[in-house]
Amino acid sequence: MTIRARFAPSPTGYLHIGGARTALFSWLHARKHGGKFVLRIEDTDLERSTAESVNAILEGMTWLGLEYDEGPFFQTHRFDRYREVIQRLLDEDKAYYCYCTREELEAMRAEQMARKEKPRYDGRCRARTTPREGVEPVVRFRNPADGVVVVEDLIRGKVVFQNSELDDLIIARSDGSPTYNLTVVVDDLDMTVSHVIRGDDHLNNTPRQINILRALGAEPPVYAHLPMILAEDGAKLSKRVHGESVSVIQYREEGYLPEALLNYLVRLGWSHGDQEVFSLEEMVTLFDIKDVNNSASSINPSKLLWLNQHYIMQSPVEHIAHHLSYHLGKLDIDPSHGPDILEVAKVQQERAKTLVEMAEMSSYFYHDFAEFEEKAAKKHLRPVAAEGLAKVRDALAALEDWTAENIYQAVVTASETLELKMGKVAQPLRVAVSGRAATPSIDITLYLVGKEACLRRIDRALDYIAQRESAA
Ligand code: GLU
Repeated sequence: MTIRARFAPSPTGYLHIGGARTALFSWLHARKHGGKFVLRIEDTDLERSTAESVNAILEGMTWLGLEYDEGPFFQTHRFDRYREVIQRLLDEDKAYYCYCTREELEAMRAEQMARKEKPRYDGRCRARTTPREGVEPVVRFRNPADGVVVVEDLIRGKVVFQNSELDDLIIARSDGSPTYNLTVVVDDLDMTVSHVIRGDDHLNNTPRQINILRALGAEPPVYAHLPMILAEDGAKLSKRVHGESVSVIQYREEGYLPEALLNYLVRLGWSHGDQEVFSLEEMVTLFDIKDVNNSASSINPSKLLWLNQHYIMQSPVEHIAHHLSYHLGKLDIDPSHGPDILEVAKVQQERAKTLVEMAEMSSYFYHDFAEFEEKAAKKHLRPVAAEGLAKVRDALAALEDWTAENIYQAVVTASETLELKMGKVAQPLRVAVSGRAATPSIDITLYLVGKEACLRRIDRALDYIAQRESAA
């Protein structure tokens, strides 16, 4: 059997980490078995679905690298097909028109509640053969009255539902539009989905969907319901309360690498011994949907940060440069003007936990900084530093070949001439050129900033010291 897994988001918001994990697990399942991964956009809720949200989902998946083999299929393009299936169920008497008014349904509910019964549709239109004047009917599925539906869930194990607990659900509204359970069933059937991997908030829909599938003469797919993702404190994940970035695109904006996020997501509910770091290839090889834990998992932002730093350090420099370029762009820096971004990425790889941090700590390579860091300037741009700075400026200005070795030698020579420890010259120089107290090694820093900018910035620092002196 060819494995066909799908991801079926509703475009009513961004792609959040729960959705991304569902997408990842479905994708991994398909890839592991050499199957297909189908993307379906469940956009039938016209009021809540938006084009921005569709874009956010597609953008998030592209950024994560979860490429799909088929789709995106849009449910709104398939209304004719849903209508056809609804008509077929009506023709075969597996569905019926229900003319109950809202008032009647409310009264029925109130009576059931008063009798301490679970509110459910009591099937009063099941046998009705004649329309009711002035009422546009809905269509209800004729659910089997008794027996059980057994879901052999790959994660949960066997889950048994009593048909007597399931009422005749509405499959078409009075305006003829199909409802969620009907569209999912028709799509899973038409798209020959073999594995439905989704959040366990859908587990209660599964017996209904299985019954509809059987009514259509089809065998249900295999189901795997993923447990929830909770906040660090074990509460339900909510952006407002927890302040975490829960949208995938937000993680990109905060400077995470997609592979760090994928690695983090795969560990939300799945493990392989005590291994923490998984390349994508390893995930595909080792992942087994059956090994997903059946209890909820909690997010762990510090672990994500740790993974991000790990991947920043371990990745090929070209890869880091590619992502760094995006973040420099966000700071209005065009990396084609200035030092080679590959060299910048290389010196910063060991120093940054996120790409946002890396871009920020690299900005002075590309343009003059606005101000010196206050503390750094106070400590290092003092009158005593002026002589060293002036000396090293001359040595640097005299360099014909702007290489890290020559720069280093110029700093050494200037310190030796003044009989100063190298740090006494190098540290003010660092602050002068970068505005800050911490940068990569002095020679590389100056080399990347470039000769002209270095000399200009040293002059600026000397002016700053002079002003400070006259103000004192
Ligand atoms: N569209 C549903 C959702 O976003 C998923 C339906 C499914 O996976 O069957 O929650």
